[in-house]
Amino acid sequence: MEAIQVLKGMRDLLPEQTAWWQRMERELAGVLDRFGYQELRTPLLEPTALFKRSIGEATDIVEKEMYTFQDLDGSSVTLRPEGTASAVRAYLENFTWKKEPISRWYYLGTMFRHEKPQKGRYRMFSQVGAELLGAAEPAADVELIDLAVECVRAVGLSEATLELNSLGCPACRPAYRERLVAYLRVQRSALCEPCQRRLETNPLRVLDCKVEGCQKVAEEAPRILDFLGPECLSHLEAVRAGLESMGHAYRLNHRMVRGLDYYSRTTFELLTGGLGAQSAVAGGGRYDGLVAQLGGPEIPAVGFAAGLDRILLRLAELREPPQGPPIIFVASQGEAGWRAALPLVQRLRRAGHKVLSDVRAGSLKAQLKRADKDRARLVLVLGEEEIQAGAVSVKDMAAPEGAQDKQVRCALADLDRLLGEKLGGVK
Ligand code: AMP
Repeated sequence: MEAIQVLKGMRDLLPEQTAWWQRMERELAGVLDRFGYQELRTPLLEPTALFKRSIGEATDIVEKEMYTFQDLDGSSVTLRPEGTASAVRAYLENFTWKKEPISRWYYLGTMFRHEKPQKGRYRMFSQVGAELLGAAEPAADVELIDLAVECVRAVGLSEATLELNSLGCPACRPAYRERLVAYLRVQRSALCEPCQRRLETNPLRVLDCKVEGCQKVAEEAPRILDFLGPECLSHLEAVRAGLESMGHAYRLNHRMVRGLDYYSRTTFELLTGGLGAQSAVAGGGRYDGLVAQLGGPEIPAVGFAAGLDRILLRLAELREPPQGPPIIFVASQGEAGWRAALPLVQRLRRAGHKVLSDVRAGSLKAQLKRADKDRARLVLVLGEEEIQAGAVSVKDMAAPEGAQDKQVRCALADLDRLLGEKLGGVK
């Protein structure tokens, strides 16, 4: 029978990979907690209308990348392609805005987009994201950007560079959009086919098209930064000043427009090397209109999301694999040895040690081999002699061959002290 395979663009994370994920998730949770952000968990499945209304009908995500299907009751549901829409839905549905003036939330989880898979781009991927709801001040933008930088740094990507832009607001963007469309219409024949369409539906997206012809056109295009009204301009200046006072270097990139419609004013991205076309590891910005757009009051907000799969791809080139706690291997001889080993294994695990033993019947020699393969730090041997003496032999796998303390006999009652000495209290 033909074997069944994983779906295209999706993958298994086997234990040697999940160890990297677990370390990264711990480090991220630490940073987010230190910034005062609390974790939000929302369903993977949402009403399709949520994403259509927030991300925008004319975006790539909504037009062609959503996993949308009809539920058994006939309603249209979608596997979430990003986290902000769900966060805002939960914020409104739970009346969080009535209970606290400022909310600091983060999420970590799986997203789905039906994209063309390639290195660093999958159909099922993970993001960590943070949202700060309730503040329009530039200080909120600065906090969020700083948080994104610190998240990426904490997991080991200190090389990431920051790009910054402002998309203006509903007061100043229309004039820019008009000028941009007029310019793009003249250049129409030089644009790729999707951009010829985007020109009418979502002209800003033409600016970050990766096709060479479009990039040439975009280089000469009018710049949004020249069209910002005085308030958007002073907002941008304040964000820049804040970032500068924290020592964050950045590059202004007037062509960074992001793929989602809900952004206003500040947008930013963090980029890293080694990932080719998929160099963006995090992106975000201000979305002052979104809460109202989803049926709530006018509440300003700012957020970011970082792609964890991509970050890990790069980290595998930069960091050592994670090291687990020291392993204690308990080896025993015969039925009596096994029965004596069981309570010992249990006691050590309850005391917080990582303890392995072989569940297959085998010689002491085979078990010692196993312990070596498992990279045990200490091997405790319970042979006939040891059981008689109420003791255990402790083999220190890190000590050099022939060293005096390579193997010592230790009374069971004295074992905790010896383990503490050998492992320096590390569990
Ligand atoms: P976005 O939600 O599109 O703003 O993306 C934020 C970050 O998520 C990007 O910078 C990427 O690092 C990551 N990301 C987006 N789409 C994918 C994907 N298909 N596969 C892997 N990572 C992705």
